[in-house]
Amino acid sequence: MNGASPELSVGLEAVRRAARLCQHVQSGITPEALAKKDKSPVTIADFGSQALICRDLMLAFPEDPVIGEEGADELRAESGTEFLERVVAECRLAGAEAGPTEICDWIDRGGADAFSRRFWTLDPIDGTKGFLRGEQYAISLALILDGQIEIGILGCPNLPFAEGQETGVLAWAVRGFGAWQQPLGNPDAQPVALQVTPTSTTRELVFCESVESGHSSHGWSGQIAEDLQIHREPVRMDSQCKYLAVARGDADVYLRLPTRAGYEEKIWDHAGGVLLVEEAGGQVTDINGAVSDFRQGSTLAKNEGMVASNGRVHPFILQSIQRHRPAEST
Ligand code: AMP
Ligand code: MG
Repeated sequence: MNGASPELSVGLEAVRRAARLCQHVQSGITPEALAKKDKSPVTIADFGSQALICRDLMLAFPEDPVIGEEGADELRAESGTEFLERVVAECRLAGAEAGPTEICDWIDRGGADAFSRRFWTLDPIDGTKGFLRGEQYAISLALILDGQIEIGILGCPNLPFAEGQETGVLAWAVRGFGAWQQPLGNPDAQPVALQVTPTSTTRELVFCESVESGHSSHGWSGQIAEDLQIHREPVRMDSQCKYLAVARGDADVYLRLPTRAGYEEKIWDHAGGVLLVEEAGGQVTDINGAVSDFRQGSTLAKNEGMVASNGRVHPFILQSIQRHRPAEST
């Protein structure tokens, strides 16, 4: 794989198109729907995004399995007819004309769950809670070869390209060829290289974590912050935009600390983001210092939580995590 492979260009174009679908659906969320906690917009966008990306991958690389988050069972059921019609309409608007059955078939192409020598993994909308709140979410796609991430792509429609600049970022990394970002709406713009921060003083760290305390323990990270005398408030953000925040130096560390023993992180919640940080000069391990094992099927069954950092502070963070490990998570 090099810096300009067909895999990269097909992946980038697929994520751009899926991002447009997600943005269109998000722009239609009314305050009333939000107040009612109506989850249908995220359902429509989730299925639509997976359909578009799996279709593009199928056309370009028909042999490649895709381990995706969604399956079409819910849409194929009688009760899913209305949702399916809306997914079909959104796909048509995004330029992919097909009937309901074909669209379900595209979605189900993302139904692989076993490890293979070459596969893609996809989270069509990572950070569904952020999507519904009108905040951060990401479309995450990665190509894994022999258990190693070769290409990682994140579409982040609500993230500013840089402070005070246009909203929407497309970021990608190719193993050995760096990490890059470009305005999501401008495929002709010159890509900008990503680089992690040079911070080495733990007191000065900015860390980011999930908005949802059910996804990453805020109590545990609070103890680490106290331990390392970190004085800045954590940046709380949904989705793998946190990996991009570390890769481009908006934050020094991303902490994902298990809230309960036995939770297995899903590969699609990490694969798109991990390589961005590594190729931007940072380091990513689980909370025990082990590298992520993408050979276990759809989960990171051999890992626990996740830590992404600028590299320099990684050992100090890992030590503090272990010092404050809650009794119930051991
Ligand atoms: P975030 O946006 O960082 O809060 O992460 C969103 C992801 O958290 C979703 O895609 C879920 O797959 C994942 N998730 C769900 N439950 C848990 C859990 N108990 N621990 C960690 N991650 C979870
Ligand atoms: Mg997710």
